[in-house]
Amino acid sequence: MSTSQHNERVALVTGAASGIGRQVALQLALQEGARVYVADRDAAGAADAADAICQAGGRAQAVVVDLAEIANLPDALRAMTNTYGPPDIVVNNAGIARTIPAADYPVDHWNTTMAVNVTAPMLLIQHALPHMRKKGWGRIVNIASISGVRAGTGRLAYGTSKAALIALTRQFAIEVAESGVTVNAIAPGPIDTPMVRSVSGNGHQSSYADMIPMRRFGTPEDIAEAVLFLASARSDYITGHTLAVDGGFLASGVLVR
Ligand code: NAD
Repeated sequence: MSTSQHNERVALVTGAASGIGRQVALQLALQEGARVYVADRDAAGAADAADAICQAGGRAQAVVVDLAEIANLPDALRAMTNTYGPPDIVVNNAGIARTIPAADYPVDHWNTTMAVNVTAPMLLIQHALPHMRKKGWGRIVNIASISGVRAGTGRLAYGTSKAALIALTRQFAIEVAESGVTVNAIAPGPIDTPMVRSVSGNGHQSSYADMIPMRRFGTPEDIAEAVLFLASARSDYITGHTLAVDGGFLASGVLVR
């Protein structure tokens, strides 16, 4: 694809105030020349991420949205995609996780996890599809997790939601395959971000790193590089796929307690 085609792309990245999403938004803007909606419920974080992109020479617009507010989401999405128009690339990255034993899992947090990690991505894809189909080109990248592929103690809602996101990826992929729109997922292993620090507590690096064949946590850049590939024309014939970016974690089959 030529640079001029890239420059016409509009991308929407959720959870882009922090961690993986922030890095994905930055690289889409600076490496691919996309105009990026930096979407997050954290208004200050989204503004800061968008400012950082603009100061580095990219184009970005912060948009504040709470993806747990499912009922308001279709209206919110229409309002938030005014500046650059509807997105050609959607990265469903926002996600929430808590570590709670399955037997005691509270239903309110289960419902919120499903809303943010599964229902909101579905609504974002539905929002973007008419434009993508009309254009005959679109890219959806859903950030799932290795927890959607294998079990981990305390991950009842999170793991179930990420497995659902992987299934959702396949379902959409086959139904839009003829329209030039690809739908893929990435399953990150442990990535050093605020989320993994909050879920794993102090000393997370040493306890987990020994279980990763590459003996290190992933970085937001590791995930952003995979997103950029799946969001580009270089992956034209790949759809319905879930790409593990995990330093060999899934391949090793170690047990996480
Ligand atoms: P993070 O906590 O650093 O960032 C998540 C962002 O999502 C935050 O900016 C937060 O404000 C936003 N967010 C949360 N709930 C929201 C809501 N209701 N509405 C709008 N925005 C909301 O997390 P991260 O580690 O960068 O994770 C990003 C994605 O990667 C998540 O989907 C996560 O499940 C997935 N993932 C992370 C890891 C890891 O080890 N960090 C591993 C596998 C998968």
